[in-house]
Amino acid sequence: MPYLTDLAQAVRKSGLRVVECGSWTGRGHGPMTSVKGVVCHWTATGPAVRPGEDYPSLGIVRDGRAGLPGPLANLGLGRDGTVYVIAAGLAYHAGEGYLAGVGANGNANLVGIECEGSGTWPAAQLAAYPRLCAALSAHYRFPAARVIGHSEWTSRKIDINTWPGGMARFRAQVGAPPTPPPPQEDGFLSALSSSEQRALFNRVFGFCRQRWFVTGPNGPREVAEGTKGATPATALDTLDGNYLVERIAAAEAAAEAGATIDHARLAAELIARGGLKVEIDYAALAKAVNDDAARRMVG
Ligand SMILES: [Zn+2]
Repeated sequence: MPYLTDLAQAVRKSGLRVVECGSWTGRGHGPMTSVKGVVCHWTATGPAVRPGEDYPSLGIVRDGRAGLPGPLANLGLGRDGTVYVIAAGLAYHAGEGYLAGVGANGNANLVGIECEGSGTWPAAQLAAYPRLCAALSAHYRFPAARVIGHSEWTSRKIDINTWPGGMARFRAQVGAPPTPPPPQEDGFLSALSSSEQRALFNRVFGFCRQRWFVTGPNGPREVAEGTKGATPATALDTLDGNYLVERIAAAEAAAEAGATIDHARLAAELIARGGLKVEIDYAALAKAVNDDAARRMVG
């Protein structure tokens, strides 16, 4: 795979507005080796930088800065969601880092996108960024799992970790089918991904009485608190539909009674107690709860 001369064509599959920046097909620090994924960046420019312009960082991303010659990304994403096709060849964007399935040479194997911004997201970018990555994923045939933020490539960087819901949600948006599957008879839970169900569980967990289990020949058995050898249930132990429904009802009752949830504290407790690695996607969670409430109101 030499220069990505089909890059503009790939980007157009997103349906976004595209600007081809002159001579982009020949621009780069040599050829790409492959396209195995995407690294999402931001330019670290706030809204006060040349506020009337869509992509004021174009000059730097294309031509470089002192000590680092351009191109510094293959693509740019403007404030209004326009995509700038900058370089078909290798760009200096990733730096030292590593990703499973890709290795350590990010620049030669990962398309770099520099989004104009510094960590806050205009609605146009919220819509466009995952859509752009979805188009690249479809065209170059890499999985949504290989759409990463720069901070996932290297701990030296923080872009783009303010994406609402984090990169897990970003990837879910990249990988989401165009139309969501219809909910099944047992309600909205079945329409959620397992990570969304886990997030939902973690949200409502704090309202619920602690459950205790002992293990036996037929699997775990629920017992009263204080039973010898009993261990507390963790999110993953008990993640089933009935359990969730029970806890959602408890959460709604508590919310009606005026209770509020301290998500950060709950998450910290869960992680400390169970050694859990949980991704809590509050945006997806809130949407799921709202959707379900709306569904039950009309149904
Ligand atoms: Zn970056």
